[in-house]
Amino acid sequence: MSRVLLEFLLHLREFLIRGYVQVQKIDSTHAGGTMRARTIGYVLGFSIIGFAAGWWVGQSKSVLPMPVSGVPVDSLPFPMQMRIGANLYQQSSAEFHAACQTIYQSAQRRMDEIVLAKGNGSTNLAVILDLDETVIDNGVFQTFLYQNSLEYTDDLWGIYEGEYGHETTLIPGAKAFIEHAVKLGVTPVYLSNRSQRFQDSTIATLKRLGLDPEPVGKRLFLKDPKLNSDKTARREAVAAQFDVVMIIGDNLRDFSEAYAAPKLKEPTDEVLTKAITQRAAQVDADRKHWGIDWFMLPNPVYGEWEKLVGREPLKRLRPTTIVAPTR
Ligand SMILES: [Mg+2]
Repeated sequence: MSRVLLEFLLHLREFLIRGYVQVQKIDSTHAGGTMRARTIGYVLGFSIIGFAAGWWVGQSKSVLPMPVSGVPVDSLPFPMQMRIGANLYQQSSAEFHAACQTIYQSAQRRMDEIVLAKGNGSTNLAVILDLDETVIDNGVFQTFLYQNSLEYTDDLWGIYEGEYGHETTLIPGAKAFIEHAVKLGVTPVYLSNRSQRFQDSTIATLKRLGLDPEPVGKRLFLKDPKLNSDKTARREAVAAQFDVVMIIGDNLRDFSEAYAAPKLKEPTDEVLTKAITQRAAQVDADRKHWGIDWFMLPNPVYGEWEKLVGREPLKRLRPTTIVAPTR
C-alpha cells in the first residue's frame, strides 16, 4: 500500500464525515423526504466505497505503509534475499536470545567488578550503548523489506525511524543490564547513528520500551544529518562529561573508528581478502578490551563488515578441497 494512496483514503474519510455533517445540517433546517433520502443515499454509497477501500488496505502484504522505492536488486552485491538465514536466526532462534543474554549478563558482572574497583568515592561513571540492534530490535524493518521486495535505503529507514517506533522491541538482556547499571550509579548514555531529525521519535520509542534517554546532549547523542557515521567526536563529548567505564555495541565502529571499512574502488579479490583479514587482526590486537570494557552483540544481518564482501559475496567463503560424492 503506497503512502499516497493511504493519505488519499484518509482524506476521503475526512471528506465524507464533513459532508455528512453538512448534509445533516441542511436536512435539519429543510426537513423533507427528498433531502433525507438523498442523505441516506450518499452515506450508503460512500460507505460501500469506504469498506471496499478498507478491505483492499487489509489485503495489502505490506506491514508498514511506506513508499515503494529503492535501488535495483541487480546493482547490489548483497541483496536482502541473501540475508534470509541471518534474519531468521535473529528473529526466530532462541540461540540469538541466549547469545544476547550471555553478553549482557557478562557485562553486568563486569560492571559490578568495575564499580567495586573504583570504590565508593567514584562518581560520574557511564556506560555507552549503541541503540539499533544493541538495545532496540528492528527485525520488523527487515520483514517489511522482504515482504515488499525492497532493499535498504536511507529514505526507507528514515520513515521507519520517524514513524514506526511502536513496532520495535528490545534486544534480550538490554533492559535488565541498563536497570542494573542505574542501580549501581552508572549512567547509561545512548550514542547512536539514528538521525537528530527524528530525535522526538527515538525518545518516544525508548520511553515506550521503558528506557529514559533524557536529557538529550548528556544521555542521548544522535547523528547530525549533515555529518557522516563517525562516532568519534560524540564519544569524546561523552568522555568529557563522564568517566566512561564500558561500551556496548553491535558494530565495530561503535567502539573505534579504526574499524571503518576502507573505501576501495573496484577492489580485486586479493584486496578485499586483505582488508577483511586486517580488520579481524585489529580485533585481535584489541583483545585487552573484549569482555573487559567492550562488549559486542551479534548482528548477523547488517553492519560495517558487509562493505567488504564485494560484488561477488560467494567468493568471500573459505575455499575447500572437499569433493562432492558421485551418485
Ligand atoms: Mg547498532
